[in-house]
Amino acid sequence: MPRFAEIIDQHQIKDHMQNALDTGKISHAYIISGEDDSGKEFVARAYAKALLCENREKQGGYIEACGKCHSCIQAESDSNPDIITVRHEKLVLSVDDIREQVNNDVIIKPYASKYKVYIIPDGEKMNVQAQNALLKTLEEPPAYVVIIILTNNIDAFLQTIISRCVVLPMKPASDNSIKKYLMEDLQVVGYKADLCTSFARGNVGKAIQLASNNRFENLKNSIIELINKLGNLEIHQINSRLQGVIKPETDEELDANALKKLEQENREDFLDVMLFFFRDVLVYKSTENVDHLIFGDKLSYIRDISGKCSYEGISKILEAISRAEKRLGSNVNSDLTLQMLFIDIKENI
Ligand SMILES: [Zn+2]
Repeated sequence: MPRFAEIIDQHQIKDHMQNALDTGKISHAYIISGEDDSGKEFVARAYAKALLCENREKQGGYIEACGKCHSCIQAESDSNPDIITVRHEKLVLSVDDIREQVNNDVIIKPYASKYKVYIIPDGEKMNVQAQNALLKTLEEPPAYVVIIILTNNIDAFLQTIISRCVVLPMKPASDNSIKKYLMEDLQVVGYKADLCTSFARGNVGKAIQLASNNRFENLKNSIIELINKLGNLEIHQINSRLQGVIKPETDEELDANALKKLEQENREDFLDVMLFFFRDVLVYKSTENVDHLIFGDKLSYIRDISGKCSYEGISKILEAISRAEKRLGSNVNSDLTLQMLFIDIKENI
């Protein structure tokens, strides 16, 4: 169960919450904004648990929930009746969801604690009617109510909502903090920790995912293999190989949604893998130093390509990757874009 000591970086948010716990000046409403997987819910739950704890204590510089009282034990098994997570079954968070789970519920006093905390994940999915309904509670909340809205897009909110909330933006965590966490807490080995940290770009949840599943490792291996074989492939073969990399055959039984997610994640990471690989090729070609390679485990491939490629060729390839990145950003046909990129690369190897 989340503790402040386990929140990586996010100093501003921790300072704010610690100060609130210390002084007892708890706001009625918060918005925690940040990308998906950045840890918003973790932060919200650490705060909720500390708010409700019967014997908060100071540990390692933080005011933390004790972890032992009745409230903490219930919170740990996700069954604390004074922490309400607002769920929605449809794509939008509707006015009925807000009325049933928030507005009609806030009038009931907390069971055991001084506070009753409502956590609303996916806050951006509230439509205007739902937001207007929530506004009724935000305008006159009972003294014990604390509402924490989580969102990846604060622009989706009415100004009247924002103005009644303390807004706490998640910041990208530092590479050092993420790497330290992966190595010390998750026992990820050094080069892999470096790799996952580079790709996560400050997003802790993404770093953990990258470190803990095979998808990324498989994607990386198949892309590098494809680059290596590029010289012997005809254009139509390149295309079918590309499809195989993005939509790999897996032994696991995956349903349609899981397959779609896998494909989406592979598409998102594809160009980053290319970019980091050819940066490695450039670093190796100019320094022959292997200490700073991101794909240090692929040294033989890196050495091979750097032997075949001129400096000019590598810089043309890096330019082609950034052109492809721009095209994909503007929603053009992504299969065609990747195919053209590989043809560019083939010409320069
Ligand atoms: Zn406690």
